[in-house]
Amino acid sequence: MNAISSPQRLIPAWQSALTEAFTRPAELLEFLRLPADLPALKLAQMREFPLRVPRAFAEQMEKGNPRDPLFLQVWPQAMEAETRRDYVIDAVGDLAKLKPGGIIHKYHGRALVIATGACAVNCRYCFRRHFPYGETRASRNHWKGVLAELADDDSIEEVILSGGDPLSLTDDKLADLVEGLAGIPHLKRLRVHSRQPIVLPERVNDDLLDWLTGSRLQPVLVLHANHAQELSPAVAAACERLKRAGVPLLNQSVLLAGINDSLDVLKTLSERLFESGVLPYYLHLLDRVQGAAHFEVDEAVGKALVRELAGHLPGYLVPRLVREIPGKPAKTWIAW
Ligand SMILES: *Cc1c(COP(=O)(O)O)cnc(C)c1O
Ligand code: SF4
Repeated sequence: MNAISSPQRLIPAWQSALTEAFTRPAELLEFLRLPADLPALKLAQMREFPLRVPRAFAEQMEKGNPRDPLFLQVWPQAMEAETRRDYVIDAVGDLAKLKPGGIIHKYHGRALVIATGACAVNCRYCFRRHFPYGETRASRNHWKGVLAELADDDSIEEVILSGGDPLSLTDDKLADLVEGLAGIPHLKRLRVHSRQPIVLPERVNDDLLDWLTGSRLQPVLVLHANHAQELSPAVAAACERLKRAGVPLLNQSVLLAGINDSLDVLKTLSERLFESGVLPYYLHLLDRVQGAAHFEVDEAVGKALVRELAGHLPGYLVPRLVREIPGKPAKTWIAW
């Protein structure tokens, strides 16, 4: 062996973990000890939005249970191929609002940046499952354009890094971007929307904490968990690190049929989130995106659930029931 080792670029643990994610349906079924012939979408129909499940998330699923609430979030069911007139490609009207470079500025004071199309997990109910991410590229030149646009509009006080999952980008790239953002005087807050601390808790490492808390911008992290079973000890530890670093933690969920549409599941989710230092923020009614109709929970049922939840929990543990209605100045709160 050569005694002189060349300086190697260290691959962070989370990136190795990402490459080990399940992408073949047969392998996931075998891991979960589920029948190999479990009904599924045909492979050819999966191409646009393939199966993708990090190991850490699969490990939280109950073996041998085809109705497991985490498995149901990621398993491509045959029903996805059914088209319905009221379930569309761009459910929330984002495409009309998308500016070149990947900025969506729908709400006053907040601009959302589609930082990347990549996700660690592919959630079958995702409203961006048909999003044409092709144009968003996390290169330095690309960021220059984004920064110039943000600098140009001094009504913007908060930048929301979204996607895809913005934490799919390397910490080098994110640190670079945040440095640029911090140089725009009218920006005050840096918000990150990510599901990675939940499905890939390794992602919360020192480098991430450095750029998230190391600029003059006030950070806030909005997580995305739908069920208490997602909150493993590793996830709780990741939240603890973020909390200790001074990052306020919020969570948004989507109300999903057969997954979290019961008082018991929602109550436990809120309680467990709080044990990890996370406050429930939004409970979204499903965006009507093509292929996700089997996840829909009726609005009346959603209202009744949140009303019951409010009867059982302190107010700060009751998420706001919201729906995204294109053209509105904010997410629409659904009064219960
Ligand atoms: C949801 C969303 C936001 C954030 O809305 P908040 O109510 O502040 O959480 C901002 N921009 C876009 C385009 C959004 O879809
Ligand atoms: S992580 Fe978020 S953006 Fe990615 S597939 Fe899941 S819901 Fe969609």
